[in-house]
Amino acid sequence: MIDQLTIEKILDAANIVDVVSEFVTLRRRGVNYVGLCPFHNEKTPSFYVSPSKGICKCFSCGKGGNVIHFLMEHEQMSYWDAAKWLARKYGIPYSERELTDSEKALQNERESLFITNQFALDFFKDALLNTEKGRAIGLAYFRKRGFRDDILEKFHLGYCPDEPDALARAALAKGYSKENLIKTGLCYERENDHQLRDRFHGRVIFPVHSISGKVVAFGGRIMNSDAKVAKYVNSPESVIYSKSRELYGLWQAKQAIVRKDRCFLVEGYADVISMFQSGVENVVASSGTSLTPGQIRLIHRFTNNITVLYDGDKAGIKASLRGIDMLLAEGMNVKVLLLPDGEDPDSFAQGRGATAFQQYIDTHQVDFIKFKVNLLMEDAQDDPYSRSELIKSITQSISVIQDPIVRSVYITECSQIMKIDERLLINDVNRRQREQTQATAQPRQQQDTPETDLKSQEPDTPEQTVSTDEKATQPLLSPEDKLRQDIRALKREGLGPMMDKERLLSQLIVRYGGKVMCTFQNEEGQEQDMTVGQFIVGSLQNDGIEFRHPVYKRFVELMAEHLDGKDFNTEKFFMSHPETFVSLTAASLMEERYQLSKLFKDNMPTDDEAHLLKLTRHIMADYQMEVVRLEIKKTEKEIQEASSGAGTLASLQTHYQQLLQARSELSKILGDRVITL
Ligand code: ATP
Ligand code: MN
Repeated sequence: MIDQLTIEKILDAANIVDVVSEFVTLRRRGVNYVGLCPFHNEKTPSFYVSPSKGICKCFSCGKGGNVIHFLMEHEQMSYWDAAKWLARKYGIPYSERELTDSEKALQNERESLFITNQFALDFFKDALLNTEKGRAIGLAYFRKRGFRDDILEKFHLGYCPDEPDALARAALAKGYSKENLIKTGLCYERENDHQLRDRFHGRVIFPVHSISGKVVAFGGRIMNSDAKVAKYVNSPESVIYSKSRELYGLWQAKQAIVRKDRCFLVEGYADVISMFQSGVENVVASSGTSLTPGQIRLIHRFTNNITVLYDGDKAGIKASLRGIDMLLAEGMNVKVLLLPDGEDPDSFAQGRGATAFQQYIDTHQVDFIKFKVNLLMEDAQDDPYSRSELIKSITQSISVIQDPIVRSVYITECSQIMKIDERLLINDVNRRQREQTQATAQPRQQQDTPETDLKSQEPDTPEQTVSTDEKATQPLLSPEDKLRQDIRALKREGLGPMMDKERLLSQLIVRYGGKVMCTFQNEEGQEQDMTVGQFIVGSLQNDGIEFRHPVYKRFVELMAEHLDGKDFNTEKFFMSHPETFVSLTAASLMEERYQLSKLFKDNMPTDDEAHLLKLTRHIMADYQMEVVRLEIKKTEKEIQEASSGAGTLASLQTHYQQLLQARSELSKILGDRVITL
């Protein structure tokens, strides 16, 4: 843990453009910077970085926040890791204090699984290099495959001893929990005696790293050619590992991918390692599964250009053609490299140095669509049926390409290769495009209001609600999802307008909570300052009301804890608060400055005391009005239902009269000004 003051120093020192640029290519646009959003799939940039506000935000998917939030989301770091990362980058000294028990409890599951995996990684490496059996069996195997020592280190290759539970015993002895060993998939519980067993025992180990270098999973390869057991065993999915969202080798390759502006795609662990070793470092593997949109997005962050490597197996190539259409649809330029018969990327790289490999690539890599036409043409020579299948398949590929110029170039080229009238192809491509647009027509998710926090991710359309309800049945609901779900439920209860008012009050707290808005006489008859925060907290306590929105409620609680701090800087406090919900929402509230001033036509400076008083009282009254309105509605219903039992009815009616009274008083404060949000 780093103390709040240091966090504020870090945020002051950090240049958000600088930091985001390490991961996203940014271009200047006016006072801001824009780039392709790293958090969702897009072809036109909607990710904005504002150096003056210290905030970044995607106007399409809504993700963003301050520089710490960016790192947390992008690098899957914890709040503290992100802060430390920045402290080191900007040379700000920090000391860590001991975590309190409740903070320890808060440290999330993901962290402990990463730590467990890191222990296993070190254990496997040690077993490979420093044990007799490891060297005789594992290291000998890697050497036989021609892997150099520097490459073993680069990819953190290892060995899991051929004993039932060598890792389990070592981990338990060091205090790692049985539960986490099972959750990471490193071990499993044997059915009969509940003893832990190592999943990877007797295998050489290929760790799988996340894009930021954390170990999310392992692959273990058997070393003999026993046909009865699987050649590879991989970690099961877990809260830190989703197979469809990782690419093997990306962590090691990402810099080379950017440098070369190209990514090579192969199938296996061994292919990646051999190519890397031979000097072609911009290479990743889909690990034997077909490419997913999530994986494509990962590559797309670093380059537009991808080359898919194929060995000579025709059936295999044909099976993978569909996956490549997906790459085209994502707007990538796809090339194909066909290896000589009988070679795979691994064997091909092992036989050559970097220059020879590069030369082969340069002379043999061809455009995907032309490759596909030629491949299918071989089969379709004179057979009319396969010819029409060929045309269908090619126009399908062309129709997913977004760029109209690229599309028309392909149409011309393909019509020449296939000797088919160009207009025929154009018509077919257009028809398919229309079909696709209809099939994928979805409610627009684009947002035009700047919102970085949870609010922006609450779905409003029925279609989306259906899909998120499905999500609710998933067992692994993240705290974020849980919170969003709660907020949606509150909205369904009709509390949306009320939470909007709570939002305005929260905005006052974040922006002006520590500012004096008036003075009053205390019980001893002395003049005393009243801050915006004291007024809001005090009013709520007087009325005995709590906010319903869980995050806004937290704002009030935190404000209540800091009412006495002289010149308490609420902006900094909330923006850098370690509870991510709080700081993210604060970041977004800070952006909505104009909404507050919109309430008043006169453009008085907002931190003027008199103005603050007016503004705060008005917004408070507005909120109270909403509370009263809901209470009136509820009481009216109760009165209707309570026709029997005169006692209850009488007290309900008294309550009702009080509410009407409150309403008329509030409307006096509010005047006749109508507030629309
Ligand atoms: P090697 O050259 O050591 O045999 P490879 O990495 O070239 O291995 P392939 O047989 O080409 O592997 O398979 C490609 C990828 O598919 C592997 O790297 C691995 O990720 C995955 N894979 C292969 N066999 C299995 C299996 N039996 N179970 C799970 N995944 C597998
Ligand atoms: Mn292989």
